[in-house]
Amino acid sequence: MTSQSPIPHQFITSQYDLILRRGKLILFDIGESEPLDIGIKDGIITAISPNLSESAHQELDLAGKLISPPFIESHIHLDSVLTAGEPRWNQSGTLFEGIEIWRDRKLTLNLDDVKNRALRMLQEQAKQGILFVRTHADVSAAGLIALQALLEVRDRVRDWISVQVVAFPQDGIYSHPDNLNLLEQALEMGADVVGGIPHYELTREDGVNSVKHIFALAQKYHRLIDIHCDEIDDDQSRFLEVVVAEAIKTGMGNKVTASHTTAFASYNNAYAYKLMGFLKRTQINFIANPLINITLQGRTDTYPKRRGVTRVKELWQNGINVSFGHDCVQDPWYSLGTGNMLDVAHMGVHVCQMTGRDEVNACYEMVTRNAAKTLDMEDKYGIEVGKPASLIVLAARDRYDAIRTRIQPSYVISQGKIIAATTPAETKWYGEDYGF
Ligand SMILES: [Zn+2]
Repeated sequence: MTSQSPIPHQFITSQYDLILRRGKLILFDIGESEPLDIGIKDGIITAISPNLSESAHQELDLAGKLISPPFIESHIHLDSVLTAGEPRWNQSGTLFEGIEIWRDRKLTLNLDDVKNRALRMLQEQAKQGILFVRTHADVSAAGLIALQALLEVRDRVRDWISVQVVAFPQDGIYSHPDNLNLLEQALEMGADVVGGIPHYELTREDGVNSVKHIFALAQKYHRLIDIHCDEIDDDQSRFLEVVVAEAIKTGMGNKVTASHTTAFASYNNAYAYKLMGFLKRTQINFIANPLINITLQGRTDTYPKRRGVTRVKELWQNGINVSFGHDCVQDPWYSLGTGNMLDVAHMGVHVCQMTGRDEVNACYEMVTRNAAKTLDMEDKYGIEVGKPASLIVLAARDRYDAIRTRIQPSYVISQGKIIAATTPAETKWYGEDYGF
């Protein structure tokens, strides 16, 4: 089904393992469908119809609940999740104290430590309807332990969650003589995406060279690019323009993602306007991380205090692909969080002032189909006949209601299997007993 076909009615076969009955499908550019039945066979969606007459081994009556493609986590650091307070808490709340704490914590990393925490987090995220994840793995440490662990996790979980691993040089690629080699070695080991952190290189020149080097590696190894770009309030941090220039020169366009770009929020409007024109030529993707950006940025401001989130609304208005990530969950940079993408979208609505009806719906897309585009996974994402049956069921009227309530999915179905089910918590009100 495409967004151009508001009344889906498609069949491939009449035999099903699972039928979902009377669910309302999210039709992104239109609204919600009338209640429909979805037939699933061998992990694939094989029918979508107003009324399937056949029966299946297993059937769920959704009674008008919403059926959504799964949430996508487009930016998380699974190597550092669930380490908050180890070896100490981030008292200043800054990105840079976080990097120092992580530098100490990673001295004690081992494969099991990373794998166990990553698996716990992925399971938590899957329970919350996330079935596609892009994680960064710090590759600026001898032994590439984080990368090795996350590659093993990626392969181990592929039957229920799709994971992409970014080779991310947290400390910069020119800050230590080994780091350049470690980054390339990470790609040889099988990292899916090349990462970078140009604003944290020692000089502006190193930052520019790092971006050029990242593009060269991506072309050599045929990988995607996702750069931590200008994650700082410094209005002079202008590596986004370098990323844009390389994207134009190499034609890599939509294979490239600029994460964070928080300095973009501090650029003067004349420069930002010029840059926006270049961005429209490149089709690069953006990832904002509202929970983390609002927390880490603005720390050196007195008042007025900047929000520190990139120009999400303006990028969206200009037709540029933006998705949202959680970024950190209980780690040196952010000690809170549960990994819930509706928390992320909810914060995005607030901090990006996306409160109009269309804007709220756009924030939902930023944790679903926009992120599929960013991850270059559109071929296996979406509720269409012939695609993997990976979807979630939400007890919500529509996308707006889902974000408002941040509801846990009633069912999470991955490749045709019901992998998680949640019964809503029930609160008993005793007020009448007291005459309230
Ligand atoms: Zn990050």
